[in-house]
Amino acid sequence: MITRREFLAASSASLLIGAVGTATEQTPDRSWYATMRRCGQLNLNERDPLTLDVASWIDYWASLKLDALLLNGGGIVAFYPTEVAYHHRSEFLGSRDLFGELARATKARGMRLVARMDCNYAYEDALKAHPEWFERNLNGSPRPHGESPWLFKTCMFSPYFTDQMAAIYRELGSRYPVDGFFTNGWPSAGDLTVCHCESCQRVYREQVGGTPPDQVDATNERYRKYYDVYMARVLDVWRRWQAVVTEKRPDSVYVGNLGGGIRTVKNVKRLGDVAPWFNADHQGRSGDTAIWDCAQQGRVARSVMGGRAVTNVTGAYSNSRPTWRHVTKAPAETTMWMAQTAASGMVPWFHWLGGAPEDTRWKAVGRDFFNWLAANESHFRNRRSIADIAVLYPQDTIAFYRSGARSLDWRGADRVQTTDYLQGLYYALLEGRIFFDFVHEDDLAAETLRPYRALLIPNAAYLSDEHCRRIREYAAGGGSLLATFETSRYNEWGDARPDFSLADLFGASVTGDLVGPVGNSYMRIDHPHPLLNGFDGTALLPGPEHRVPIRGADANAAPVPLTVVPYYPAFPPEMVFPRTPRTDQPAALFRQNGRSRVAYFSGDIDRTFWRSGNPDLGLLLQNTVRWLRGDERPPVSLEGHGIVEAFAWDTEPGYALHVLNYTNPNMTRGFVRTFYAIGPQKAEFRVASGRRIKSVRALRAGKALPFTQAGETVLFEVPGVTVYEVVAIV
Ligand SMILES: [Zn+2]
Repeated sequence: MITRREFLAASSASLLIGAVGTATEQTPDRSWYATMRRCGQLNLNERDPLTLDVASWIDYWASLKLDALLLNGGGIVAFYPTEVAYHHRSEFLGSRDLFGELARATKARGMRLVARMDCNYAYEDALKAHPEWFERNLNGSPRPHGESPWLFKTCMFSPYFTDQMAAIYRELGSRYPVDGFFTNGWPSAGDLTVCHCESCQRVYREQVGGTPPDQVDATNERYRKYYDVYMARVLDVWRRWQAVVTEKRPDSVYVGNLGGGIRTVKNVKRLGDVAPWFNADHQGRSGDTAIWDCAQQGRVARSVMGGRAVTNVTGAYSNSRPTWRHVTKAPAETTMWMAQTAASGMVPWFHWLGGAPEDTRWKAVGRDFFNWLAANESHFRNRRSIADIAVLYPQDTIAFYRSGARSLDWRGADRVQTTDYLQGLYYALLEGRIFFDFVHEDDLAAETLRPYRALLIPNAAYLSDEHCRRIREYAAGGGSLLATFETSRYNEWGDARPDFSLADLFGASVTGDLVGPVGNSYMRIDHPHPLLNGFDGTALLPGPEHRVPIRGADANAAPVPLTVVPYYPAFPPEMVFPRTPRTDQPAALFRQNGRSRVAYFSGDIDRTFWRSGNPDLGLLLQNTVRWLRGDERPPVSLEGHGIVEAFAWDTEPGYALHVLNYTNPNMTRGFVRTFYAIGPQKAEFRVASGRRIKSVRALRAGKALPFTQAGETVLFEVPGVTVYEVVAIV
C-alpha cells in the first residue's frame, strides 16, 4: 500500500527531476529521508513503560507536522519484549510492548518511524557471558559508565557491533514497521578511543604494529596507522548496518551520529561518503561557544554531503554546562538553533528527553517553529547554495595540528585550539556580510571549486601533496586565493617540509623558525594597496601573535605594502618603543596572475583576530576577500546594520535569502534570552538570466515585499529582522 505522503513524494519527485535535471547537477536523492523536512525525537528512559501515554505523545509529535519520529527501540534497554539474548528488557516493561504501541501510533499518523538505538553500553550479565564484547583498560578491567556504573562500554572492534547489534536490528525490523535505525553516540566525529580488549589487541598486533597512544598524536607512526584502521572499521560497521537494515526494506536506512561542528578529528569526508544520511548530534552550545555554532555545523555537513540528507538535533532541554535534562532551554536559544539549522540547509530534529515531563514549556517552542516551516516547506527545498567564495575546511589541521603556535595565556594544554584560525576567518566573513560555502580539503576537484571566485585557506598547515596540487590547479584556472600562516608547511600528518608546498603560489619562502607568541608586534603600511583601504590615519596595524619569517620569491616584485615591525616590550611603559621600527620583511604578499589573485599572510591574523577581537584584523581579512574577487560583483549582497549570518539558496520554487540576526549580548556566551531586532537590510540578488521574478515575500513576517528587477538583478529591502527572516524570491 502506498500512503498519501509517499504518493505525493513520488509524484513531486518525477515532476522535479523533469524540471531540475540539468547536465551539471546530480540526480537529486529522492529517498524519504532526503526529502523529509521535519524530524522529532522522544528519548525514553527505562521507567517510562510504567506511565507513558502513547496517544498524547503521538498527538504532540503529529502537531509538529513531522515527517519522521525517532523513538527508542533498544541497545542498552529494549522497550519491547526482545528475544535476543543479553538484550536487556526495560525492568519496568511488564507485559507492555511500548515500542510496538508507539510504532503503530506513529505510522497511523503518517509519520516515518526511526528506531533510536544505543550500541555503546550493555549490562553486567552480557559482560559475564560475552567478555569479548567489551572495551578494556590496559589492566584488563572493563570500562563502567561514569554515572551509571552498572553499564559497561562495548567495543566497536568486537562482535557486539557486527553480531549482537545486527541481531537486534533484524528483530526490530521483522516485528515492527521501522523505516530506519539511528545509533546514539556512535561513531561521533570526535577523538578516537584506544581499547585493550582481545579484538583490539589483535588489531594492534596485526595492523598497527603496537599499541597506539591514548591521545591524538599524529607525530606517532602507530597513531597514524591506528587512525586509518579505526576509520576503516567505522566505515565497515556503517556499511554492514546499512546492509542489515535494508535486507527486507530497501528504503530503510541506518544513520550514525556525527556532529562536533568544526571540531572534527574523524575525517568527515570519509564518513559522508558512506553515510546516506548525516545526522549532526549538535544539540546546543555552552560556555563561550559562539552563537553561529549550529549554522557552522551545517556548512561542515554540507561540504561532505552536498544536497543529501543532513539533520541537526536541537535539544529542547537545557544542555548547557552544567546540564539539566528535565528543564526547558531558553526558548530564544532553541528558536535560534532551529533557525540556524534551517538556514544552513539542514533539517531540524527536535529532541526531548523523558516521557513524563514536569516542564512542558519547550513544547510550544518546537510546535511554533515547525508549523511555520511546514507552511513554507517548498522554500526549504534547496538545490544549491549561492555563494562565490569558498572556505577550505582544513580537516587534517583541525584534527592533528601541533605546531609551535601557542597563545600567550596558554596554560599547559597540550594542543593548540586548532579551530581558532577558521573561527577568526568565519567571524570576519560574517562581519563583512560575505556569502560563502565550506569546501572540504578532500573535495577540491575542479567541478567542486568551479562556482567559486576565491578559495580562502585559514592556516591549513597540514596539506597533502594532492591537496596542494588541486589548489595550484584551481589558481592556474583563474581562481583567487587567500592563505594564512603555516598553510602547506607540513604534509597531511604533520611532517615538516623544507618550505611551503605552495611557496610558488604564495611567492614566499620560509626563512626561519616560527616567531611567537608575541603581542605588541605590528604590520607597517609601507605602500598603498587596495587591500589597505579604510586604514587612513595609521601607519601601523596590529601584528599577529605568531608569524613565519619569510622572504619574497620575486626580486622584481612591486614594493611590499605590509612589512613586519618586530615585537618590542609592552611593559613597563618606559620601555615601549620600537627597537627596529622598519624592516623589509613582508607581513603579507599580494600577487596577481591574470584573473587569479593570491594573498598570503605570514602571520596567524585569522586566529589573532578571533582571540583579540581587534577589528583592524577583521577589516584586513574582509578587504582581502573583496580584492580577491576583483571587479566581479558578488551574486548576492546584503547591506545594513547588525551582525548577521546569511545564506542564499537556489530552491525548487525559485530562490531564498535567509538572514539570522546575531546582534545580541549573548552572541559569544549562551543562552540567548531575548532578541534585539535589527532594522531594514538592503538586498541585491542575482537570478538566472531570463528569469522573471513575480514575487518577493518575507516568510517570517508573512508579507509581500516591494522589489525591482533590472536584468538579472533583483533589488528589495528585507524588513527588520528579530531572530530570523527568510525571503522567498519566485
Ligand atoms: Zn576493543
